[in-house]
Amino acid sequence: MVSSPLTVNRPRRVDPEKLSVAFREPSLCARSGTCVGVCPEKALSIGEDYYPRIDEDACTECGLCRRVCPGEDVSFERLNRLSFGDDEVASGFDGRVEEVHVGYAANEDMRAGGAGGGVVTAMLYDVLRHGDVDGCIVTRMRPDKPWLGEPFIARTVDDLLRSQGSRYTIIPFNAILQQVLDGNERYALAALPCHLHGLRFAFEEIPALRERLPYVVGLFCGGALETFVVPELLETKGIGREEISDFQFRGGEWPGKMRAIMRNGSIRDLHYSNYKDGAYNYFIGLYLPNRCQTCIDGSGLFSDVSISDAWTRDEEGNYKFAYHSRILVRNAKGKAMLERAVERGTLVGRNLGNDKAYQTHRRQTTRKGLNAPLRLGRRERRGLPVPRYGVATPSATFRERMTERVVSSLLWLGRHRVIRYPLIRFLTSKSALPLIKVRLWLKQRKYKSAR
Ligand SMILES: Cc1cc2nc3c(=O)[nH]c(=O)nc-3n(C[C@H](O)[C@H](O)[C@H](O)COP(=O)(O)OP(=O)(O)OC[C@H]3O[C@@H](n4cnc5c(N)ncnc54)[C@H](O)[C@@H]3O)c2cc1C
Ligand code: SF4
Ligand code: SF4
Repeated sequence: MVSSPLTVNRPRRVDPEKLSVAFREPSLCARSGTCVGVCPEKALSIGEDYYPRIDEDACTECGLCRRVCPGEDVSFERLNRLSFGDDEVASGFDGRVEEVHVGYAANEDMRAGGAGGGVVTAMLYDVLRHGDVDGCIVTRMRPDKPWLGEPFIARTVDDLLRSQGSRYTIIPFNAILQQVLDGNERYALAALPCHLHGLRFAFEEIPALRERLPYVVGLFCGGALETFVVPELLETKGIGREEISDFQFRGGEWPGKMRAIMRNGSIRDLHYSNYKDGAYNYFIGLYLPNRCQTCIDGSGLFSDVSISDAWTRDEEGNYKFAYHSRILVRNAKGKAMLERAVERGTLVGRNLGNDKAYQTHRRQTTRKGLNAPLRLGRRERRGLPVPRYGVATPSATFRERMTERVVSSLLWLGRHRVIRYPLIRFLTSKSALPLIKVRLWLKQRKYKSAR
């Protein structure tokens, strides 16, 4: 199991230049599913590893899959124009922000079931229950293979409650566009930055799609984990994949833990720290796919409204907003969606104005706002394939450049199962607890000394 696909269905008859990037340079494929979702001939499908496959007999070489693909040509200027109607790409990790709020779902189950405060689900539920849409496109772990995620159409509040929580793994979300294009219904959706890029390109190519998807909520993304993360984690615990009926990346009490829901109904915690204070950092280091390593959109830059965790801490280093989500309003459409949900009592929100204390924290902005662009620039100079955003590489100090190199070396180590597997086995075991405690203590100290 390595991060780059070895089994991609390389075309023999069809010109790869006419196709989405997976068929030319698979390492650039974000596995967004966009090409599969829009193909008018249904010549593309999703493979077991979530990379697209082609049926060459059905392909007419129309080139649509290439034009909507967010893997390689991801001009931020074009995306900005398609999203906001102008050429002013906002600088900074958070991008264009008109207002910042924190909030939570008014429904208690929805709040408790959310990754943060259930805001994403509440916003989708609000337009569904008022008849503005026929359904919501969301995700779940597959009923047949609960170690993999999939998109699905939620039509009831129960469906939405089941879709809640973050699935920190690659999901070819936009493959569902096939279903959208086959019908006449309207949907609201929430999606990751690369999904949004593909959607914006698809809206340009297929205007009917824009009408059918009037509400698009963006999610922050620090990176999705490889599709084999769950099977591998289960293996370290001696659990067979067939023994689980569901998998939660952040189940239980906020901020949550990775948990396996067993077929016999019991729940198995798979590590000792919570997701934020331990697991997230080492999983992202060991299971980050190649394409995510050069992804520089961490905040859903091209959404109307974008939702993140609310990790702000107080002076003691304790979280200020347990069971809350942070809401970045990017334009009038996003503002209207949020305000309606609050007015109709679906969502409880608080406007934080422009208080800098609520900006995305440094560690997160470093990961995708600095390290990823530096890595991208470095790979480009070495002649390696990289996505083209049309954005200048940020300036960085010597120390920052060296730090990026160290992080990249760790990512490289993570590509090899022989290194990754024992590490993840150790890091999720009881023996790693002292390490996590020391890390938390250092963090706490940092907050106290900053007072
Ligand atoms: C892969 C990934 C990486 C993330 N990285 C960050 C980060 O670095 N920083 C940060 O602040 N926030 C990040 N988030 C967002 C954060 O984890 C929460 O999703 C967000 O705060 C919303 O919480 P909520 O309680 O409002 O949403 P909920 O009510 O829990 O709803 C969550 C929504 O996310 C959708 N979803 C879950 N997994 C996926 C997926 N893989 N692909 C598409 N849709 C999905 C669900 O279908 C649901 O609609 C990430 C989310 C994901 C999925
Ligand atoms: S559209 Fe998405 S799934 Fe298809 S090749 Fe491009 S990045 Fe990969
Ligand atoms: S890091 Fe970028 S490419 Fe990877 S899943 Fe997140 S948005 Fe998509």
